[in-house]
Amino acid sequence: MKTTQKIDPLLSLIAVPPGYLNVMGYWDASEENGPGCRAVVWLQGCHRHCSDCANPQSWSFELNELISIDRMFRTIVRNPKNEGVTFAGGEPFWQASALALLAKRLKAEGLNTMAYTGFTLERLLAPYAPAGSQALLDQLDLVVDASVCKTPVGCFL
Ligand code: SF4
Repeated sequence: MKTTQKIDPLLSLIAVPPGYLNVMGYWDASEENGPGCRAVVWLQGCHRHCSDCANPQSWSFELNELISIDRMFRTIVRNPKNEGVTFAGGEPFWQASALALLAKRLKAEGLNTMAYTGFTLERLLAPYAPAGSQALLDQLDLVVDASVCKTPVGCFL
């Protein structure tokens, strides 16, 4: 009999030290991942496993590349073409607390912020949302959630 192992993102994320992000990839000055010219941070880990996901390598919650919030911040602001930042994935909201700190620093530098998510906004506002969701929402100028985008762009679309 075939069994499927359920991944608990919360348990997996314990391995990510405070002040760090588990990142799948990074692009500078993208014009295809939101309005204008943007840095794009792809977070590692998504439990949804959508059948039409273009980016299944983002599903694993194993550590991929650990980048400190400070280093990510410096990387993004180093390129003056970056008018804003997009968080995609994987699922950004499983790393919401760290992303909220990063977004706050970027906004103070004048960059705008957005995120794609496989959650609905309703779920992110609920008491059982992933830790730090409200803090991250407070720092975002734009959220594209699962109710808007059938296949959340958490992927290289
Ligand atoms: S499409 Fe987005 S939400 Fe769905 S599995 Fe891929 S990264 Fe996750």
